Amino acid sequence: MNLEIRYLKGVGPARASRLQRLGIETVGDLLLHVPRRYVDRRHVASIASLRTGREAVVAGTVVHTRFSRSRKGRRIFHATVTDGTGSLDLTFFHADYLKRRLRPGVRVSASGEVRFFGGPAMAHPDLVFLDDDGDTSGSQGVVPVYPLTEGIGPRTIVRLVDAALEGVGESVPMAVPDEALQSRGFRSGAEVLRAVHRPEDPREGIRAREVLALEDLYIYQQMLAAFRREHRVADGAPIPAGREELERFEASLPFRLTGAQERALGVLSSDMESAVPMRRLLQGDVGSGKTVVAAALCRLAHAAGLQSAVLAPTEVLASQHMRSLGGFLERLSVGCGLLTGSTPAGERERLSEALESGDISVLVGTHAVLEGSVPLQRLGLLVVDEQHKFGVEQRERLLAGREPRPHLMVMSATPIPRTMAMTLYGDMDLAVLDEMPPGRGSITTRVMHRERRGEIFDFLLARLEDGERAFIVYPLREASEHRDLRDATSAYEILRDGPLGRFGISLLHGSMSGPEKVAATESFASGRTSVLVSTTVIEVGIDVPEATVMVISGAERFGLSQLHQLRGRIGRGGRSSWCFLVHGDGMDETAWERLRILAETTDGFRIAEKDLELRGPGEVIGTRQHGLPDFPVADLERDMDLLTEARELAGRYPTPPDLDGLFEGRFGRPSPLTSERAERDE
Ligand code: ADP
Ligand code: MG
Repeated sequence: MNLEIRYLKGVGPARASRLQRLGIETVGDLLLHVPRRYVDRRHVASIASLRTGREAVVAGTVVHTRFSRSRKGRRIFHATVTDGTGSLDLTFFHADYLKRRLRPGVRVSASGEVRFFGGPAMAHPDLVFLDDDGDTSGSQGVVPVYPLTEGIGPRTIVRLVDAALEGVGESVPMAVPDEALQSRGFRSGAEVLRAVHRPEDPREGIRAREVLALEDLYIYQQMLAAFRREHRVADGAPIPAGREELERFEASLPFRLTGAQERALGVLSSDMESAVPMRRLLQGDVGSGKTVVAAALCRLAHAAGLQSAVLAPTEVLASQHMRSLGGFLERLSVGCGLLTGSTPAGERERLSEALESGDISVLVGTHAVLEGSVPLQRLGLLVVDEQHKFGVEQRERLLAGREPRPHLMVMSATPIPRTMAMTLYGDMDLAVLDEMPPGRGSITTRVMHRERRGEIFDFLLARLEDGERAFIVYPLREASEHRDLRDATSAYEILRDGPLGRFGISLLHGSMSGPEKVAATESFASGRTSVLVSTTVIEVGIDVPEATVMVISGAERFGLSQLHQLRGRIGRGGRSSWCFLVHGDGMDETAWERLRILAETTDGFRIAEKDLELRGPGEVIGTRQHGLPDFPVADLERDMDLLTEARELAGRYPTPPDLDGLFEGRFGRPSPLTSERAERDE
């Protein structure tokens, strides 16, 4: 299985490098390159017998091809196929490449759902080129359809897989427990592999694919479980949840905690009383008040003579935390310091001394905090905000090798459904802030065409006259990296010289340096300027209760959750707020849908559900962004049920003896556990 692909029969250097580009480096990788679906050629239907709405397989010869355009102007390629009983129209969007292959005279088998457009038709059917595959693929029976592979034809893949199957023989160890195979009718790993590539019937292939997808998820879940176990056996420092401490903390606040904050604090503080280090995810919508909960925990750690570190993914966010968290803590004379990548050496020195002497016990920063030689010997609590931007592995590196093992709290403003939370944070317990602080003004959201900019600016002017503040946001453009900067920058220049100018305008965009960003944010937060023109860098973390207006340009380009996060920057004070979603021409239907939902609700969980519906789980959780591996077989879109099964199995079965090796073999990158052990053993 671990044999390098270039040693496989039929693979020369050129083919090996092409396969490598597909991520296939070993024979095992090739065997996990499973068919997308199967075409059941055992039951070929005659075209005359086709029924609209049914799935069917037909075989015939291309007699005619042409192009047409859809109503929306998309190019459609048509190939008419006949089998002697009738003719069938095969249609493909944006598929000019097929023109060369689907030529008159070519014999194909097509499978898909039968539609009716003036005659029987199939849109984007699965194709098998009959002359191509000849007998080698067993095209008379069940034909596997592999994902499109550049430079490697279907016939080649079939042949290589055959060689690989032969090569591995009967001994194919599986990481998933036998019961997962048996419940799907398989007795061995070899059977599973044979069935996924060369099934007797498509359903057998689908069951075999399930076993392999389950194995992906199982390995990942075992890794999360191992984190959890290692963490559990590590010695943590118990932090007493002194009732008095908490009361003093609450008494020092300018507001009363919400019921949800009280409950979360109860759970978290009792977690920390144990010598088993805490691992908790605190999930709460934007504005639900996670920061003050974090501050309370830092306060408890301080009282126990321990340090806390609070990490944010960006400098802007870190300095924001420093302000709000620091505000809560310094009133109780708990010293806080800010350390980011751009902290000058002298200041760094001073911070180190203050940490050592105990003048500072809470360090806020970007992950630069835990790199290098910061004296955090008595780190009792690690708080990570927006952890998905860090990834599981990075987070583990921060904890690894520390003695005692710090308690961990991760804060996330992305409300995700339970099953998803399990994939991402399967190694953590959950606490939820499901209640907003009282006294928030309402937010009115309007969807407006950009031609009505004038009205919006008149409105804006009136709010500023009243002493309120406003965000003006421009989208990041994918097409050209600098375009977003230009949009925001030129808008900034125009506004500065116009009637808004006298209120003071700050500019914030991604190409500014860390300190520049912080300076811009600070002058807006402190009220020196009343307008902040920015790109989406303000998405998370800025907390300016005086801000009551947000104008989002090019709103149709933003995702639903992103707009929700953005809008969460206003409506934080007691006054009513307004959000303008400004769009241009030519919005598609889903863009309208997104804006409509936002205008309708401010409920983060409802918005998350809608987002999931519109984009699907794969898009919403992303993979890389969350530090998830690329699963070779499993597809988060399709395999949510398997995820539950994988987690359940991982809970019942012990860690596989060679988990690190399994992980690396499967995901093509070293297991995070390896680095954790290496660091500990040093
Ligand atoms: P998030 O969960 O988005 O991080 P924050 O912690 O930034 O939310 O809180 C948002 C705002 O609400 C802050 O200005 C904070 O001071 C305020 N806040 C937090 N808890 C309460 C509360 N219980 N009552 C009133 N205001 C609160
Ligand atoms: Mg926050």
